[in-house]
Amino acid sequence: MSPKAPITQDVMTIPRKLPEGKINLVGLTRDQLRAVLIEHGTPEKQAKMRTGQIWQWIYQWGVRDFGEMTNLAKAYRAQLAESFVIEIPEVVTRQVSEDGTRKYLCRIAGGHEVEVVYIPEEDRGTLCISSQVGCTLTCSFCHTGTQKLVRNLTAAEIVGQVMMARDDLEEWPVPGAPKDETRLLSNIVLMGMGEPLYNFENVRDAMKIAMDPEGISLSRRRITLSTSGVVPEIARTAEEIGCLLAISFHATTDETRDVLVPINKRWNIEELLQALASYPKASNSERITFEYVMLDGVNDSDEDAHRLIDHIKRHNIPAKINLIPFNEWPGAPYKRSSNNRIRAFANIVYQAGYASPIRKTRGEDIMAACGQLKSATERARKSRKQIEAEAGLQN
Ligand code: SAH
Ligand code: SF4
Repeated sequence: MSPKAPITQDVMTIPRKLPEGKINLVGLTRDQLRAVLIEHGTPEKQAKMRTGQIWQWIYQWGVRDFGEMTNLAKAYRAQLAESFVIEIPEVVTRQVSEDGTRKYLCRIAGGHEVEVVYIPEEDRGTLCISSQVGCTLTCSFCHTGTQKLVRNLTAAEIVGQVMMARDDLEEWPVPGAPKDETRLLSNIVLMGMGEPLYNFENVRDAMKIAMDPEGISLSRRRITLSTSGVVPEIARTAEEIGCLLAISFHATTDETRDVLVPINKRWNIEELLQALASYPKASNSERITFEYVMLDGVNDSDEDAHRLIDHIKRHNIPAKINLIPFNEWPGAPYKRSSNNRIRAFANIVYQAGYASPIRKTRGEDIMAACGQLKSATERARKSRKQIEAEAGLQN
C-alpha cells in the first residue's frame, strides 16, 4: 500500500439542516412529487405541469432554492418554500488521491456517514455510491462488512450522492450540455457500502431518477449494480431498474464461497448461476460482470480459474470477469495474490474466451479502494469502545 499522504484533505461543513416538518422533494418519484404538491396546495389541474417544472429545476439544473425557479410565479415559489426543501447529504470531508480519485465522507440524517468515491478515467468518470450505512452481510474480506452500524439509505440519500458529486465537479449542465461520453460523471456503480438488493425500492427509485431524461439523464447502460447474490431480487433488478449487473462471485466452490461471501449459505453457487443465466437483460452487449477478488492461496489457483470458466460456460452466461487485486485494510485476514498469480489466472480466463481485465487499484492512499470503505468516525467509535473495554469500563 502507498505510504504517501493524500495530496489534499480539506474539510467542508455545509450546514443543511432539515427544518422541522418540511418535506424533502429529492428522491421522490414523479408520482410521489405530484402527490405532495397537491397535498400542499398545488391545484390538481396544474400539478402535472408543476411536477415537470420542479423536476427539471432539481435534476436538470441542480437548483436547491425555490427562489431560483424563475418560470414559477413568485407567490407559488414562496408557498413551496414553506412546505418543502431540496436536500442532499452534507459533505464532511473530501480527499483527493495522488491519482485524481476523490473520496467524500457525507453526513446523512441521524449523524450517520457514508463514503462516496469518484474515479476519473480517460474515457469516463465513475461515481461509486453507497446504498446502506455499513452492511448486514459479513463477507470476510470486506472492511464494510465489519461495521456494526447498519441502516438503509433513503432514495434521497442515494441520488443525493450523485447530486453532491455533480456539485463538487461543477457539472450541472448549461444549455447544450455535453453528452454522456464527455461528462465528468458519466457512470454510476453501486459498489460502495452496503448490499443494494437489501434496499431494493430506494435503490430503484434513486436510479430511476438518475436515468430520467429530463434530469441527470444517465443511460441505464452506464449504471452497474453490484450484488453479493441476493438471488430472489436479481430478476427484479432487470425488470424494475434495467441497469447492468455485477456479481461478487469470488469463489468457485460452495465450501470457499460460504466463508468469503456468507450469503452463499442461503443461496449457493448453483442457485446463483441459474438466476444469472436467466437475467432478462443479459446479452453479448450487456454482459454480466463477475467480480473476483484475488486472495493469496484462498481462491486464486489454476483449478479455480478453470472451475470459474466451467460454471459460466455450463450456464451459458454472457460474462466478463473482473479480477480485483485484494485491497488490504487494517486487520484484514487475507493477503493480495501476487501479480504473477493474478496474470496467470487472467490468462486462463482469457484463453477460454472471456474478457478478464485486472482492475486497477485506485485511491488506495486515501483508503478509497473497493472494500476499504468504512467511515472514519465509525473506526474511531470502535477503537474508543475497545479502549473502554480494555479499561474495564464497559458492562
Ligand atoms: N455489497 C455489494 C456491493 C459493494 S462491494 C457487493 O458485495 O457486491 C463492491 C465490490 O468490492 C464487491 O465485489 C466486493 O466483493 C468487493 N470488495 C469488497 N472488499 C474488497 C477488498 N478488500 N478488496 C477488493 N475488493 C473488495
Ligand atoms: Fe456487504 Fe458487499 Fe462488503 Fe459483502 S462485499 S460485506 S455484501 S458490502
